[in-house]
Amino acid sequence: MRVYAKLVSLTHPSFHLSHPTVDSFTWNTLIRAHAQSEDRPAISAVSSLSVYMRMRCHGVEPDFHTFPFLLQSFDSPSHLHFGRQVHAHILCLGLVSDPFIQTSLICMYSSCGDSNYAHQVFDEIPNPDLPTWNSIIASNVKIGLISTARQIFDRMPQRNVISWSCMINGYMRCGKYREALSLFREMQSLELDTVRPNEFTMSSVLSACGRLGALEHGKWAHTYIDKCGMEMNVVLGTSLIDMYAKCGSIEKARSVFDNLGPKKDVMAWSAMISGLAMHGLGEECFAIFSRMQDQGIRPNAVTFLGILCACVHGGLVSEGKAYFKRMSEEFGITPLIQHYGCIVDLYGRAGLIDEALNVVKSMPMKPDVPVWGALLSSSRMHGSIKTCELSLKQLIKLEPSNSGAYVLLSNVYAKMGRWEDVRYVRDQMEAKGIKKLPGCSLVEVGGILHEFLVGDESHPEAREIYLMLEEMMKRLKMEGYVGKTGEVLLDLDEEGRELALSFHSEKLAVAFAFLKTSPGTPIRIVKNLRICSDCHDFIKMVSRIFDREVIIRDCNRFHYFTHGLCSCKDYW
Ligand code: ZN
Ligand code: ZN
Repeated sequence: MRVYAKLVSLTHPSFHLSHPTVDSFTWNTLIRAHAQSEDRPAISAVSSLSVYMRMRCHGVEPDFHTFPFLLQSFDSPSHLHFGRQVHAHILCLGLVSDPFIQTSLICMYSSCGDSNYAHQVFDEIPNPDLPTWNSIIASNVKIGLISTARQIFDRMPQRNVISWSCMINGYMRCGKYREALSLFREMQSLELDTVRPNEFTMSSVLSACGRLGALEHGKWAHTYIDKCGMEMNVVLGTSLIDMYAKCGSIEKARSVFDNLGPKKDVMAWSAMISGLAMHGLGEECFAIFSRMQDQGIRPNAVTFLGILCACVHGGLVSEGKAYFKRMSEEFGITPLIQHYGCIVDLYGRAGLIDEALNVVKSMPMKPDVPVWGALLSSSRMHGSIKTCELSLKQLIKLEPSNSGAYVLLSNVYAKMGRWEDVRYVRDQMEAKGIKKLPGCSLVEVGGILHEFLVGDESHPEAREIYLMLEEMMKRLKMEGYVGKTGEVLLDLDEEGRELALSFHSEKLAVAFAFLKTSPGTPIRIVKNLRICSDCHDFIKMVSRIFDREVIIRDCNRFHYFTHGLCSCKDYW
């Protein structure tokens, strides 16, 4: 910001702006300094605009370089009227056909939240150049209009790495991970010689793999990075650690982490800590945390989220409390809502429901969906029906279309015999047209992702899958497996008891993997909801009877099933 400080002195009253040497170059530089001032972003729009006004008052003509910077400083809906006025000046001055200015206008309108104007500007350009095409795609991605972005992307006469990365990242940001990966593959096949992915493309691809639990794809992306000779910098390294951890391969995550050497920044350390936490490796988490401090790296809010998460999964109440205290007292980090969520989860899972509820009531911010969700799952686990009801009501208030919450609330009322309330909740669901979120599992076999819904019969090999599942069930029943169809106190299931337990998507995925892989191959599954206790029992037995390692990532954590036991120690 030294340049900025120097330039600010130009605006000082003692500086004579009418001085003949103050030409448009100086004014433009000054506008740019104000527009890009990082230390005062909130006022950069007003101050750069005021420099522009003074430039006009002094009779200096703006040129092609004046507007891109000026427009860049308008980046919130409250700046839209400034942007429109400047747009009018550009039209009057006859500068509107400049490609730089056109691109800047599109970016400005989308940053100010007016996508209609952004499109209008774009549509009026007779032959948009590549950066202009990219800017209209970016502007649609920014506001979540991903299908519009894709339509424009498909119309582009020519694309570069920015166009592809922007589109892939757009899919990532709206949760369309499979689309992100398939677009990357398309890029590879169509533009093998012309477009080379860069570090941003690869880190989007890696995070898509992580979200999907697609280990084979992720490994392939890793090899690709090495083969291309891309520098293994800390951004890529952190993405790799995160990907391997989320795909269930903590050893690989560790080896990437170790190979990063002294380059590691706080994000890399935090990614490793979160990965270990997700795998229930609390002790190692704490060890890495102290190693990090020994090396002079100061933990941040993300690091502490990982640490607290490790305490939650290990049921380490007193450690969690101590770290939470250290966070603000020793490191001066103000806890965010996510940290409070961890503490609620920590108390709740350990059965301290009243303490958890007290945290929810006394936290300085309004509890959000994950906080109530944490309280809900612990009150379910420990049979506290009152707290269950309270959390569900709050969840429905915050997320009126959360299908799972309605289903659970009606189940809670059914348990309590409050049939009037059951009917009321069901009517509400019907009136609001709320559909249940179906349980869904993804399994990667031979580098291809297969998706199964509960009771799914759409797979081309459905017949074989169901036969296999039946065979497996028979064998397990001989060994003493009993399906949990009976009522267990508050063992409420998001997927509902009425749907045959034997067809839950993870069971179908396991049966499919048995059909398609050779004995001994570990099976990796990603499930969108929490695994139910019956599926948990089923897979524990599968791991013993058939001697198979099964790794399931549900919406909460990883479950490693080997020799009839699960790494969560039945605590999830
Ligand atoms: Zn299940
Ligand atoms: Zn488990």
